[in-house]
Amino acid sequence: MSFPVVPLESIPTHGLTVQVQDWGRAACGEGLGGEAGAVSGHLVVTRQGRHILVSGTLEGSATVVCDRCAEPLRFTVAGEVDCVYIPRDEVAAQPVDEEPPEEAREEGEYDGVELDLVHVVREFFALERPARILCGDLDPAADAACLERFRTRAALAPAPPDPRFSVLKGVKPTR
Ligand SMILES: [Zn+2]
Repeated sequence: MSFPVVPLESIPTHGLTVQVQDWGRAACGEGLGGEAGAVSGHLVVTRQGRHILVSGTLEGSATVVCDRCAEPLRFTVAGEVDCVYIPRDEVAAQPVDEEPPEEAREEGEYDGVELDLVHVVREFFALERPARILCGDLDPAADAACLERFRTRAALAPAPPDPRFSVLKGVKPTR
């Protein structure tokens, strides 16, 4: 098999443990939206009929930019993976109004033949990434400098005309 692509038929009954190494780096960066620094962890892959269960832990970091001041930041995410991958044809056949199963596992899709763990890594980091990352989230002490950089950047843009002037123009001085 072309690692880290795991064919359904190749998964042993007791499962398969895969160490996440350099093959997951680019996917970590894509998920976090920056250039990946490092990724580590392990994934345990087991099968349940045609469903592939993936659990384990992942930790990865990437250089992303602050959403306020655009300064590059080293952002790290770590967490538990607990996901079930369901063949696409089965997902398509599911009635839309079907009650979701009790377990709060994330659901993903795969082609029913093989699961690409690069995809699993990318999806994990994309889901874990907060919608907004600011300098102050990583280091509260950096917040003031972040705001300062933001103001400097905003000052470089042409200032909009001050609306107070247009009001004053129509006012004649009274004695
Ligand atoms: Zn910032």
